[in-house]
This record gives sequence, C-alpha cells and structure tokens, in this order.
Amino acid sequence: MIQALLRRISGDPGERFARRHRGVVAAVNAFEEEFKKAAGEALTARAAALKERLAAGASQEKELPEAFALAREAAARGLGLRPFDVQMLGGYALHRGMVAEMKTGEGKTLVATLPASLAALAGEQVHVVTVNDYLARRDADWMRPVYEGMGLTVGATVQGATPEERQAAYRCDVVYGTNNQLGFDYLNDNMVHAAEARLQRGLDFAIVDEVDSILIDEARTPLAISGVAGAKPPPYQLCDAIAREFTPGTEEDDFISNDFAADAKTRQIHFSDDGYEKAEKIFARHGLLHDGGLYEAHNLTLMHHLVCALRARHLFARDRDYVVRERRIVVIDEHTGRPMPGRRWGDGLHQAIQAKEGLAIEPETQTLASVSLQNFYRGYRRLAGMTGTAATEADEFRDIYGLEVMPIPTHRTMVREDRNDLVFARRKAKLERIVADVKDCVANKRPVLVGTTTVESSEEIARLLAAEGVGHDVLNAKQHEREASIIAQAGMPGKVTIATSMAGRGTDIVLGGSVEAERAAVEAEPELDAAAKKQKLAELDAAWEQRHAAVVAAGGLHIIGTERHESRRIDNQLRGRAGRQGDPGSSVFFLSFEDPLMRVFADAKLGGLVDRLMADDDEPLEVGMVSRVIEKAQRRVEAYNYDIRKQLLEYDDIANDQRRIIYEQRRHIVDAADIAEVVAELVAGAVDATVGAHVPAGTPEEEWDVAGAAAAVRQSIGRELPLEEWLQSSDELDAAGLVAKAAAEVQAAVEANLARLGPGSLNFQKSIVLEILDNNWRAHLSALDHLRQGIGLRGFAQKNPKQEYRRESLAMFNAMLDTIRADATKILLAVRLREDAPPPPPPGAAPVQPAGTAPVPVQPAGAAPPPVQPAGAAPAAPAAPAAAAATASKKQQSPADYAKAGRNDPCPCGSGLKYKHCHGRK
Ligand code: ADP
Repeated sequence: MIQALLRRISGDPGERFARRHRGVVAAVNAFEEEFKKAAGEALTARAAALKERLAAGASQEKELPEAFALAREAAARGLGLRPFDVQMLGGYALHRGMVAEMKTGEGKTLVATLPASLAALAGEQVHVVTVNDYLARRDADWMRPVYEGMGLTVGATVQGATPEERQAAYRCDVVYGTNNQLGFDYLNDNMVHAAEARLQRGLDFAIVDEVDSILIDEARTPLAISGVAGAKPPPYQLCDAIAREFTPGTEEDDFISNDFAADAKTRQIHFSDDGYEKAEKIFARHGLLHDGGLYEAHNLTLMHHLVCALRARHLFARDRDYVVRERRIVVIDEHTGRPMPGRRWGDGLHQAIQAKEGLAIEPETQTLASVSLQNFYRGYRRLAGMTGTAATEADEFRDIYGLEVMPIPTHRTMVREDRNDLVFARRKAKLERIVADVKDCVANKRPVLVGTTTVESSEEIARLLAAEGVGHDVLNAKQHEREASIIAQAGMPGKVTIATSMAGRGTDIVLGGSVEAERAAVEAEPELDAAAKKQKLAELDAAWEQRHAAVVAAGGLHIIGTERHESRRIDNQLRGRAGRQGDPGSSVFFLSFEDPLMRVFADAKLGGLVDRLMADDDEPLEVGMVSRVIEKAQRRVEAYNYDIRKQLLEYDDIANDQRRIIYEQRRHIVDAADIAEVVAELVAGAVDATVGAHVPAGTPEEEWDVAGAAAAVRQSIGRELPLEEWLQSSDELDAAGLVAKAAAEVQAAVEANLARLGPGSLNFQKSIVLEILDNNWRAHLSALDHLRQGIGLRGFAQKNPKQEYRRESLAMFNAMLDTIRADATKILLAVRLREDAPPPPPPGAAPVQPAGTAPVPVQPAGAAPPPVQPAGAAPAAPAAPAAAAATASKKQQSPADYAKAGRNDPCPCGSGLKYKHCHGRK
C-alpha cells in the first residue's frame, strides 16, 4: 500500500530513468533520417571521424547519441533489426555502468552492441560476457554486422581454441567469451614469461549478460587454475593412523577423557587439550613438527591433514557419502544421492578418505593461480550488466560491485498472467494436478514449459507424462547447442518442454516456434533456384504465421513451476520465459507441504493449515499466507547465500591485495627492458633481511650479532661475507655502513656472475626471477588456504577469525617476500650456463610457455638448490620467517599479563591460541 503510494508520488525508478533521459533517446533519434539515407561508406566514414574525435579527447557521453545512431543504422542494415527506443535506453544504462534489468525477449544481445561499440570507438577493449561458449560464438557472429558497419572488429574466446585463435580474438575491439574463459585468460596472462604471450590488452570494460547468474550464482566458487602438487606428499597415512587411535567426545561434556569432537552439522572437528597434545607428540616423534605447536603458521599444513583424516574417519561414511568402486572413491552427491564418478573432494580430504580405505592415494592438485569472481570483475575499469531478473539482488549488486540496478521499461506492455500458487498437502496430489494441467494445454494446442528444481524431479515428471502418453522434450544436459534448438521449438502449438533451470538459456521462446532453422535449411539448399527458394520461404513464413496466430489465440506459452526455488530470482527467471514482447502467456507454481523448501522453512503458523489440508486431502488451496511464508523462507535462503559469498569475498579481499602486489611486480619484470634495477632491489632486500636483521641500523656495536649475520647470509644466500674482518679493519663502519658494504659486495658478485651469462641473457634472467616469484606465490596460495581453515578451527578461541587471518597472512606474505629476495639472490649468484647448453635466446624470443615448463639450462654451483622446478612442485611449507615474526611478538608481554590470563582466554602473547595451549601450558 505504502509502496504503491510512494510509487505514485516518485514514480517507478525505471520510468523515472526513462523520463530523465528522454533527451538522450531524442538525440539518438535526431540522426535517424539522415543516416537512413546515407551510403554505407558514408556511415563508415562517420564512425571513423567519431573515433578520431574520441581519440582527441571528446567524451563518450557527448558522442554517445551519434555512436548509438550509427549502431542502430548498422543493425537495421546488417541484421534487419532496428533497435527500439527502450533498447537505446538499456544501452545508455549499460554505458552508465548499471545493471539494465530488461525482460526476456527484449533483445539484450542487440542492446550490448550499443555501449560496446561506443567504448570500442573510444579505444577501450570491451569484453561481453556470456553464460556459455555456444552463446559467445553465436552472439559474436550474430552481432558482427553491427560492429563491422562501424569499422570495428569482433571475436570470441572459447574453450578448446588454439593459442593463435585466442590471440586473434583478443586483437579485436570487442571480445565475447564466458566468464570462465575470460577469467582463465586473465590468470594465464599473469603466469607468462614474455609480454608477447599475453592475451588480454587489459581489463577495460566488461558487459555481463545474464549478470545475476554470473556475478551472483557463480560467484560462490572462485576461478582457479590448478596443477598437480609438490613432490613430497603430505603424511596421509600417518594422519590416518592417528585418526584411528583418536576417540571422539562431545563438546558439551568438554571432551572429558576424549580427544576431539566431531560436529556432524558443520562437518568440523574440534580438538580437546588431550587430543591436541597427543597429536603434537606423535608428529614430534616423527620429526614432522617444527618450532612450536601445531597451531603455528608453519605447522598448519600438518594440522590441516590431521583434521582431514579425522573428518574422513568420523564424518564421512562409506555408502552414504561415497562408495568404493574398482578400488576408487566415487563421491555421492549430497543433494541428489547419486554417485558422481570423476568428482573429487578438494584440499586433501579425498586423499584422507583414500588413506582410510587403504586405497592408492592420487596426488592432490595445487592451486597455481586463483581469483574470486568478485575481485576479477572489480578489476575492470568499467563494469555493466544485463538480465531479466536483478531486482531481488539489488543490494548485493550495489554493495559488492557498485552496480545500480535499473529496470528498463518493456517495448510492449507486458500482459502475462501470473496466477496465485496452488498449494497441496501431498506431493502425489500435486504431481497429478500438474499432469492434468499439462494435458489441458496439449488439448488446447498451447505450448507449456514445466520448470523443476532438480534433475530428479524433471525425470519424475517426464515419467508421469510418458505414462499418460504425452510427448515431451527434457532439457537438463549441458549440451548448449542442442538445448538452444529445443528452446527454439518450445513455442510450437501443444509442445511440452521440461527444464531444470532456465537461468542463462540464451534463446527465447517464440510463439509458434522459431522458423529460423527451417529458413536456413532452405537457403542452403543447393538444388533450388532463387525463385523456388523465395516460394519455399514464403510458404514457411505463412505456415509460421498460422501457428503463431493459433498459439496466441490459445493464450500463449503457459509456465508451470513444480516447486519454488531457493531464491525468488530463479522463480522469476522461469516465469519470464512467457509473455515476451507483449505476447500473451501465463504462469503458475504448484506447491506441496512435502516440498523440500516447505519442509525446511515452513514455520509453526502453517501447522493448523496443514492439518486442515490433510483432512481435505487432494484439494488445492490458493492461499496468500502460504505464499508469504514461502517468500520469507526464500528471503532467508537468499540472505544466507549472500552471507556465504560475502565471507568468501572478505577473505579473498585480503589475498587480493597481495595478489595485486605480486601481479604488478610480475608485470613490471615481464615488460622491463632491463632488470638490473629489480635485481639490485632484490639483493638489497636480501642483505637487509639477513645482515640488517642482526645488525639493526642506529644501534651501538655491543648490540650487534655479527656472527649471526654472517651465518644468516651463508644460510639464505649461500655466500661467505668477512663481516668481522671489515669491522676490524675500519673504525668508521656503523650498522648502516656495514649493511651497505655487504649489499655492495653481494651486488657486485651478482653483476659479475650475470655478466658472464652474456648480453643476450635478459630473458633468461627474467625467467629465473619469475620462476622464483611464481613458485613462492603458489606455495603461499596453498598456505593461505590452510591458514583459513586453521583459523576456522581457532574460532572457538574467541578471536576474530578475519582479523587473525589478515594479521597472519600478512606475516606470511612478508616472509614470502623475504624468501623470494633471498632465493633470487642466491640463484643469481650461483647460476651458470652449462658448457654444452645452447646460448640463451635473443631478447624478444622468450619461451611462450606456461610458467614452469620452460627448460632452463642451469647448473647450480655448490649447494644451491635447482632454481627451476616444474610447475606445481613448489615446497608446500610456508617459509620459516613467519614463525620468527610470530615468536618475536610473543616476547613483549609482561609477566603480569600472563598472570591475569584465564586458561581459556586468548594467550596474551597474541599467538591466537588459548592461554592453556600456549604460554599457560603445564
Ligand atoms: P533477451 O536476451 O533479451 O531475452 P535476445 O537478445 O535473445 O533477447 O533477443 C530476443 C529476440 O528479439 C531475438 O529473436 C531478436 O531477433 C529479437 N529482437 C531483438 N531486438 C529487436 C528489434 N529491435 N526488433 C525486432 N526484433 C528484435
């Protein structure tokens, strides 16, 4: 009521937007008459002139009307489609970096070309993101005439393309591709060793089609590239043996006399004091525990694998969660109960279960590069999206991506009839009524689309219909191409189509069926002459007109939802398939109290109603109250899912800052014409972390540990420095002077060694540094994963897990930077060209191979480790200096602080452990 009132006062936001920007549309229209009369070359010349003005600094906003008008004319000529005014408005919203909410069938594919061509004329590379490869290719091909009409190029990056094809696509002004492909290309670009191997020009402007599917639904899983992990496998068997010995207790009895608690709900493990100490002792006995307890950052990997082993033993049951087939683990899907061959649990759990079952352990894969979708898209300088359904997620779009949702009015008035839900007590009665409804439609020659939430229930409906002799098509496989053709025919009179999720199925349902395929077949007929073709096409069109009219007369497409989805948006996507472009149509959802969503979320209020319904058996109710309760349940699920995504993002944000630093550094090295400066910085950093750490600047000589400094240099960069001698032979050396002298000495030695490699060795030197950077970064990524889980375990120590994560990941990151500097210095000092090795490649001809596969001819001198390891063979243990950082902070507390601490309080030293596990240990 209030909403309606407010709306009357302020107007619908979409209408307001339309009203406010009437002028833009009018300005576009003002060009129309002139452009219609112009010759093709004249239009191309206009586009070229526009491009020049933009290059000379004219704003896109100012040139937008002419650019949109040119695109409109190109579309009218090249595609036979003249973009409507509302499409201009949608294009303008995209240009402004909004989510244009445009209903199904409003022609979003065409809308995207408007801002895309404007931006491309202004020199930005535009990425149009589609939900699958089929659509990437289809849309790029379909829209090509629009772009080419303006002198622009368009390409598509799809899975399975060769590197050359991919590079060719990225040379275009506008590139179509899926979310995954664009993301992987981006990650790959940050793994190359040479600038020429990069695909993307940068992240300028992304226009995301079906933006809710991509930025919301898919954002739960980060993009990742993985490979097989390190040479030394974690101690799976030992962890399993420990897990076997451990007895579970419950958290309520404070684990009395037991080792740990297994929480079946969250599938997590909590240790008791005893269990924790027992595990530490066993690991220590095997020589696996380094420097402190299991919760120390550098021992987290061990802790992680022990937790996996305990989860495998106590929370994952054979024949419930997995089956063993032919001596392999086959995961059972927890929602559908089906075995899923080929699926694997991540992060060591799969291996832990293999150890538990005594099976061969397959190597774990390691993340080589990863980024959350949220941070990938936030990396674009400009972002926009379009979809039929965004309003319910408007907050998330705004808060996470800074995208305002703008509903765009439809071209024709929407007349679809959305009926009230029909609620049944029992599922059986509901299904019977659905079948009857479908049969009704078929008898009336009305097409009907039945939407289900799971593959199971779509098969169930299919069986029931088959039993009644009702023919139908089922859509649930991931064959996008076939899918598109099924959907294209879903509007035929009396056609029945069953589908699981309608998200991102990018072909709209035309009443009377699409005639495109038949027309194309006639056009391609080699035997027909032009007149015969024309005749046949006319017949096809006439037949279609008739079918179309019949379906319109029957009431258009009818949509049946067999259950409510977890989010209102997915329900709306399903409804949105009917009523396109002013078509008639209707939609209805059938619900029962036995539906999962109802069972999980229905509240007590419904109790009485259920009883009444049960008594009245098979009669449905159309009750607003039930719908409201369901909507509330859906809101709860939506909020819960948003929360999960937010959590993922909050952690990824921390990693993202570090990723940016590493990627920037990498980029700088790859692009550098000379890396002497980078090398000098690395050396200075390495010396500072070794000599400087023992001989702090500004301190008197009595406080220096010169022997320690020399030992540190020896250990981490493999060099003997006569620090003691230098001091004895000069009275003037202060701390800073000593560090500077050491740095100069090492620097000179590095330079001398690199000079021996010859002038053509720039790429070779770069490769060395990049390898070291990449290996350490990969190890850091997996350490971060483990840290995150370890932090989760520490949640019960009343710490703020996110802050803890931030603090420790930063310490680990700084330690990693130290390791990189030391390793680089050590290897640059020791690297030699083998006598029989070919000379290093000339500048500019660096290997265009993914990181780690470049064979580098090195012969490490002395005890230096081989600098170049195969991809993924990075040492998994985080670098030791993290421990140093952690222990250093422990010493600054006064005894009084410790005296005050309770056994269960966080330890005053700041380690993140309970006092009783840390300084309070007996
Ligand atoms: P959406 O993605 O918004 O659901 P599509 O881009 O798939 O819609 O287009 C739906 C249909 O509308 C296509 O068949 C397309 O040819 C048609 N269409 C789009 N724009 C126009 C237009 N301006 N004039 C006529 N038909 C159009």
